[in-house]
Amino acid sequence: MEFNPQEISSYLITNKDTILNCIHGGKGQLVLTSPTGQSHCYLFLKPRNEREFQPGTIFVYVKHESYKYYLGMLTADNVFKLTCNSRFEYDTEAVKGAYYIVKMSSNQELINKSPMKLYHFCRCARCGRLLNSEQWLELGIGRRCMHKYLEDRKRTTWDGNS
Ligand SMILES: [Zn+2]
Repeated sequence: MEFNPQEISSYLITNKDTILNCIHGGKGQLVLTSPTGQSHCYLFLKPRNEREFQPGTIFVYVKHESYKYYLGMLTADNVFKLTCNSRFEYDTEAVKGAYYIVKMSSNQELINKSPMKLYHFCRCARCGRLLNSEQWLELGIGRRCMHKYLEDRKRTTWDGNS
């Protein structure tokens, strides 16, 4: 599949905290592109609030052609894992892409040096509304949601509880 960032509204992510926000906002969408723009990994995120999951658990889906497939689970503390419901093997583009994105979210140097580029779609990762200024685009979460997002993160992460 090809992804041309010029053709649709997208925002190049250059900061690891933006990735964290896009992931843990819970409803973000991210595209990772290779240097040629040829292959990419298109991730959809969905929060899971059922009691059987730890608070802050996010389900990760991958878009392939026009379908979405369940890929794996991300904990509030930013650990991605495949689960028994995942149809993907470790050596697939989708799984490697998801691990890579999570790695980027805690490693600014990797983002700076990586030939891979990561984009979000100019929408708030928490509610999906269009983000309309550079400030909120850079954060990946809108003004209305930022406060709630930070509260949730405080409540659900190890850092927030320490
Ligand atoms: Zn929002």
